Amino acid sequence: MKWKRWLRSTGQGLCLAGALACALPAWGQPMGLPTLGAASTAELSPAVERTLGDAIMEQGRHDPTYIADLDINQYLTRLGRRLAANAPQPLDQTITVFAVRDPAINAFALPGGYIGVNSGLVVAAHSESELAGVLAHEIGHVMQRHIARGISQQSQGRGIQVVSLLGALLAALAGQGDLAMGVAAFGQAAAIDKQLGFSRSAEQEADRAGFQMMRKAGFDPRGMLDMFRRLMNAARLNEGTGGGYASTHPLSIQRLSDMENRLAEEPPLSARPDPEFWFIRTRLALIQAQDNADRQRLQQTLRSDARAQQGMQRAAALYGQAWLDQEAGKLAAARGKLAAAQALQAAPQLDMLAVQLAAAQSATAAVEASAQAWKRWPHSQGVANERARALQKAGQDEAAVTFLQAAIGQWPQVPDFQKLLANSLERLGHKVAAHEAMATYYEQTGALPTAVEHLQQARSLSHDFYVQSSLDTRIRAVRERLDTQRALLEPYKKK
Ligand SMILES: [Zn+2]
Repeated sequence: MKWKRWLRSTGQGLCLAGALACALPAWGQPMGLPTLGAASTAELSPAVERTLGDAIMEQGRHDPTYIADLDINQYLTRLGRRLAANAPQPLDQTITVFAVRDPAINAFALPGGYIGVNSGLVVAAHSESELAGVLAHEIGHVMQRHIARGISQQSQGRGIQVVSLLGALLAALAGQGDLAMGVAAFGQAAAIDKQLGFSRSAEQEADRAGFQMMRKAGFDPRGMLDMFRRLMNAARLNEGTGGGYASTHPLSIQRLSDMENRLAEEPPLSARPDPEFWFIRTRLALIQAQDNADRQRLQQTLRSDARAQQGMQRAAALYGQAWLDQEAGKLAAARGKLAAAQALQAAPQLDMLAVQLAAAQSATAAVEASAQAWKRWPHSQGVANERARALQKAGQDEAAVTFLQAAIGQWPQVPDFQKLLANSLERLGHKVAAHEAMATYYEQTGALPTAVEHLQQARSLSHDFYVQSSLDTRIRAVRERLDTQRALLEPYKKK
């Protein structure tokens, strides 16, 4: 799936969510199209929405613009869930936030509680509250079920896209057809329509819910207003080029003055910023800078930030410079800047860079540095990832297995650790266990048929009766999950 082209060509990702919801009213009456099942006129249930979101994410993870970075996604998801936990109403989806490499200032909600944030949006934010403001607004849409349902008053004619996606999903679950093709076809169909977007009242509802979340979660609600002002200016500058956040979330003067009025009644709130925001923002600026010209511009920005700013912002600018030095092979300079940053602020990102710089010396130095980093940041997935990789590069697969098993105990739902575990098990010759870990990886990323294949391979390699019967139990359990998903999607099957 061309995730980027898809999101871009719809103008923005939210269009996609819009396309999905817009599709619903048309399900009953397509002309010259296959007859649709009875359930097709109903709104998506939370379970169907989740299944759909998982399938889109499974494809999206393969897209080159998807930023597969545990550290960044852990930070963003933590921020999103902190807001969601303070929502005025409970959500029927678990929020998962991920980053996409794209300089356009945008964010988008997918079905199933998934929220994508463009690198450009985080880089454009001047404070954590500004980033939180956009996330809170998106979560407001999720809370109000705008994605699955809301847009029923909008125009018709897109039903077939959702139905064909659900149909492709069903075929893939049955082991037939190509889900990637189905999702891609859906994306292209969705791209045809560029006029989607949320209604003004939906926007105001999301703003209101977002405001409440921000205040309760301890963020300054002014961040939302500041960010939306910035977005509105960006939209004005880019007028005519299409796309951009403003075209899916109409940013009217009315909306901004509503926010101003609400803020006038609020006592000022001094937010306690998470220093990690500045390091994540720098990381995303680095990831976003693709060519030499980009890097030079970024180098300039970082240099002037390191001079003009103080405290954690200055530390983050030094960190960015150290990162660029390391990449250019100027290791001594990189170490100097890293030390200067560490003198100002402690952050897991700094210790992760220290591990990478140690790796340039020797694999054992990296293992040593990663042990120290892990001692300081035992809840950082990014540091855990560095530690596991350092052990693997030093050939310490036994230690890596022990470490990864503990990491999986802490984060049972993070598939990346399962894949790393499988690599070490494979090298140690534990082929059955390696296939089991890969099966868990595919189960967690939503590729259930592939998970079954790995379990069957594990079963055929095992000679132990107990292992075999426990594998049989797992195979049955995954097949039952597949059956449940099929049953969920069955009503959308083409007749
Ligand atoms: Zn909106």
